[in-house]
Amino acid sequence: MHLDPVTLLIVSSVTTLLVGALFLLSWRQAPSSRALAIWGTAHILGALGSGGLALRGQIPDLLSIGLANAVVLAAYGLIWSGVRAFEGRPPRPGLAMAGALIWCGLCLVPPFYGSIEARIVYASAAATLYCGDAAAEFWRGRRERLASRVAAGTMLGLHGLFYLVRIPSTLLAPPPRGLNPLTSPWVAILCFATLLFSIASAFTFMALVKERAEREQRVAAATDPLTGVSNRRAFASAAEAALATHRHSALLLFDLDRFKAVNDVHGHAVGDAVLVGFCAMAASLLPREAMLGRLGGEEFACLLPDVSPVEALARAEALRRTFAGLSVPELPTLRVSVSIGIAQARDGTDFEALMRRADAALYVAKHGGRDRVAVAESHSQARAA
Ligand code: GH3
Ligand code: MG
Ligand code: MG
Repeated sequence: MHLDPVTLLIVSSVTTLLVGALFLLSWRQAPSSRALAIWGTAHILGALGSGGLALRGQIPDLLSIGLANAVVLAAYGLIWSGVRAFEGRPPRPGLAMAGALIWCGLCLVPPFYGSIEARIVYASAAATLYCGDAAAEFWRGRRERLASRVAAGTMLGLHGLFYLVRIPSTLLAPPPRGLNPLTSPWVAILCFATLLFSIASAFTFMALVKERAEREQRVAAATDPLTGVSNRRAFASAAEAALATHRHSALLLFDLDRFKAVNDVHGHAVGDAVLVGFCAMAASLLPREAMLGRLGGEEFACLLPDVSPVEALARAEALRRTFAGLSVPELPTLRVSVSIGIAQARDGTDFEALMRRADAALYVAKHGGRDRVAVAESHSQARAA
């Protein structure tokens, strides 16, 4: 089978151009995703660069060698920069363009410009670095679990590896002198690799952007916008799931005391700040595995997995005491406190039943004078009563 490198270069150039346009169109629909704009620009530059390379022999060498390769290197720099932007890191446009600018500088040095090996080695090394570090950026961001992250990183890593292999291959088997390098089998392979890279990056990068948007929507649907803790629905389903596996959990129900008065005296904004402060304080005092949720208004709940009744009571007391001790220098008359009801789960306790018992305990704490903790009677006591 004969693969004509020029035809392949043109096909890869047109495909890359279309992929670039697709990225830019998607960016118009999601303007906050700066990575899409950077990747779109990168692909359009890549397409122009490949087009320039394909015109070798028909336009001056300075354009088909000097400028076209600089544009291709700028494209790889922007791919890297786009990945950084996607990962929420500074896109570093200076470094993204450095590969192309160094190339331009080297082209002014006759021994470099006159040596095809030197040119291939430099361009391949720069592309390897950009692709390799872009793959590493995806790896560094792995805490954000996105289904296409591994595919995108692997695709970039393999593309970088391809350029890396090209360096020793060129040094061990230099292209024959005097022949148009476009006739080299490497060029056909390179065109294939670029074509695959364009298509694979269109799929994986787009998928990553979509997966992140879906993830953000899922998180937003489960989060209370004021305090950032789980909302009632998310808390209930997480607590229900935890109860199935953690047999000795405790449920703590919180209701801030005389909160209406806080709003009335100090204003709604101060009330909001108290709610946020309560959650921040609770998050700092509770163990990592604790689940905190806002049930609504000034009512919160916490599920403590695998705790003894004594530990659950100690945690609740620590929260109550710390909250009552909070003071704001600018608002010396602001006093806040919380009442807490605790119910201990046993094997097979269902969430609704646990909520009812904790709610009854909270009622006892309120009617006992507020700013206190009350523990629900155990199952056996409840049955005996
Ligand atoms: P108690 O000690 O009996 O619990 O008295 P309370 O005043 O805390 O209870 P009540 O249920 O009468 O009042 C709750 C108040 O919480 C009323 C409502 O205005 C306020 N509230 C509910 N949600 C928010 C909110 O998101 N922000 C602010 N600032 N206030 C809220
Ligand atoms: Mg209430
Ligand atoms: Mg209240």
